[in-house]
Amino acid sequence: KVRVRFAPSPTGPLHIGGVRTALFNYLFARQNGGDMILRIEDTDSNRFVPGAEEYINEALAWLGIGIDEGVREGGAYGPYKQSERRDIYRQHVKMLLDADKAYIAFDTAAELEAKRAEIQNFQYDATTRGSMRNSLTMAKEDVERLIAEGTPYVVRFKIEPGRDVEVDDLLRGTVTINSSILDDKVLYKSADDLPTYHLANIVDDHLMEVSHVIRGEEWLPSAPLHVLLYEAFGWADTAPRFVHLPLLLKPDGKGKLSKRDGDRLGFPVFPLEWHNPVTGEVSSGYREAGYLPEAVVNFLALLGWNPGDDNEIMSMDELINRFSFEHCSRSGARFDYEKGRWFNHEYLMRMPDEKLAGLFKPVLKANGVNPDDFTDEYIARAVGMVKGRVHFIDELWNQAKFFFTDPAEYNPKDIKKRWNNEMPEIMHQLSTVIAGLTDMTSASAEKVVLDWIAEKGYHLGNVMNAFRLCVVGECKGPHMFDITELMGKEKTIGRIALGIE
Ligand code: GLU
Repeated sequence: KVRVRFAPSPTGPLHIGGVRTALFNYLFARQNGGDMILRIEDTDSNRFVPGAEEYINEALAWLGIGIDEGVREGGAYGPYKQSERRDIYRQHVKMLLDADKAYIAFDTAAELEAKRAEIQNFQYDATTRGSMRNSLTMAKEDVERLIAEGTPYVVRFKIEPGRDVEVDDLLRGTVTINSSILDDKVLYKSADDLPTYHLANIVDDHLMEVSHVIRGEEWLPSAPLHVLLYEAFGWADTAPRFVHLPLLLKPDGKGKLSKRDGDRLGFPVFPLEWHNPVTGEVSSGYREAGYLPEAVVNFLALLGWNPGDDNEIMSMDELINRFSFEHCSRSGARFDYEKGRWFNHEYLMRMPDEKLAGLFKPVLKANGVNPDDFTDEYIARAVGMVKGRVHFIDELWNQAKFFFTDPAEYNPKDIKKRWNNEMPEIMHQLSTVIAGLTDMTSASAEKVVLDWIAEKGYHLGNVMNAFRLCVVGECKGPHMFDITELMGKEKTIGRIALGIE
């Protein structure tokens, strides 16, 4: 059975790369009728940030990335928070010690520092462990005595040098790394009675029966170590398959996208706005910037994966259907923010006007308009006419405000260009023509007004621009007679009167 996990560390807000990892896990799980686990990897107490876990939950929920097993969802393989699994890790550390696959080391930070100064590129491994203070070099009694006295120690993984370790990656094929370049990684620290990431991760993936480990490429260098850990525990046969997703690159393709790039380059790299509880800093989020979650999901899905054809707009269900690792790239995926905006625009365009109108109501309120003064149909038709011009819902206000309020001012440039001494009189006549209309529908009103302009010998462009200036406040917007059809006779005449003043 396919069982995947998303395993963030609550060290801050989830960033967009993490969200993409979560999404790919989710798509793969759903496609295969599998389970999606959310595991909180909080073994690094120094880096714990309050609020981060809640943020992760909220972000995944907003995006529609469903979780089957987790801290809140429960499940048969819990607890799903690593800090609540200390007993399990202790047991497993003991298993490795008993099997002579790991050893205890007492070296202090100062001692390690001194070694690093003495030996260039110092590695704690088969070549150097003999010169350090650990259970391989010390008498058994001394080791036991130090532990009994409460001396802090770590447990290190004993890596046999000179072995070719094969990491089987679904995207990259077999990646071979010689064990001699790996150091004897710390697996457990007595000081906080917690395992490190590596041990906890392997133990949990095994016990939670994870079938596929899908994570970012930055974890590829750790994978050989993980393969060796599975072996050391005797779990090699049931070890999960690995998939290391390509890095997300900066928009210019130069280097990895970092959390700092967002505010530096002017786009969010977080799904939701994040208020740093320590510094008070606020980082922008896609939700607050006005993105639709569906657009963000679609955008992220195409970072490192492609459907193999030109059809880029895909709902979550379509993504679940079509996703495959065969169409994932191995090279980094350039984070093209403009493309994200484009997706949002496309989703706004595809959204039924009634729904868009519902999302626009809070924007109306924020701009001092009571949405209840208008029918739902009126609001829907108004936004429907202008949505082609916007990327975000709140941008609808600038495009559609004239449907809801009289122009607060008239564009000075347009006045200069489009208005002259004859206009008040012509507009006065026009308002009489409109008053006489028996049918305000766009085509019919247009015909009457254009016939009148022709009959009078007026300049078509000049009259229409002045008309538009009166009604809209500036010389742009949707088709003039679509506007007047929606606004109705009375309001149109009112606007002309206001404009003449
Ligand atoms: N806790 C790790 C992280 O924060 C998980 C890495 C993995 O998926 O193995 O990304």
